[in-house]
Amino acid sequence: MPVTVHQFPCLSDNYGFLVRDDETGLAACIDTPEAGAILRELDKLGWNLALILNTHWHPDHAGGNAEIKAATGAQVVGPAEVTRISPIDREVKGGDEVLLGATRFQVLESGGHTLGHVAYYDAADGVAFVGDTLFALGCGRLFEGTAEQMWASLQRLAALPDDTRVYCAHEYTASNARFALSVDADPALKARADAIFAARERGEPTVPTTIGLEKATNPFLRAGNAEAFAAVRQAKDVFKG
Ligand code: ZN
Ligand code: FE
Repeated sequence: MPVTVHQFPCLSDNYGFLVRDDETGLAACIDTPEAGAILRELDKLGWNLALILNTHWHPDHAGGNAEIKAATGAQVVGPAEVTRISPIDREVKGGDEVLLGATRFQVLESGGHTLGHVAYYDAADGVAFVGDTLFALGCGRLFEGTAEQMWASLQRLAALPDDTRVYCAHEYTASNARFALSVDADPALKARADAIFAARERGEPTVPTTIGLEKATNPFLRAGNAEAFAAVRQAKDVFKG
């Protein structure tokens, strides 16, 4: 039985994600950018929240943990670093598994943006929740980790099947596309950027993306090695577009 993913905007440019294991009806919330919005969506859907899955400790990812746990009784699962802002019920790291009813999430180490960042990958359904590691045409800033660490994390995600649906935590895609066009003249990128600008004009989300699309057009993945990746990341940090 598959999962159903419900995606909705939170804060200024975050996405909230609720995922339901269709066999048991149990739901998980991926990060907690905005407790009020997430609780409203849960109510609307009538889903039963069993788990909060945190990708990293930043307030726009774990700041709503306490309020959502108090309202639903959900268990908080996340890397140890989340305890900087919220208690957790279960600590996970790369290589662990988390069960949501009949759905199995692999925990993938994805440090770089923060040191302990993890992603949650459901191989049976081809779905990955990657937090602030990989974005559509972009990647997370290196607040805590090194370029080598982030490159290794991105390679771990790039190794997933091409048709994996990648749920990134922010709608940064139009700005990422402007940067990508400034460093890469690839025709496939140009075509994708045009489609992105048009989608954003219409107010449509550009998330989820896929691993195949990112491998083909994302300048951070196309860098080829950690050193070249570091240079692209530095250029993006100072890009004014
Ligand atoms: Zn973050
Ligand atoms: Fe974030």
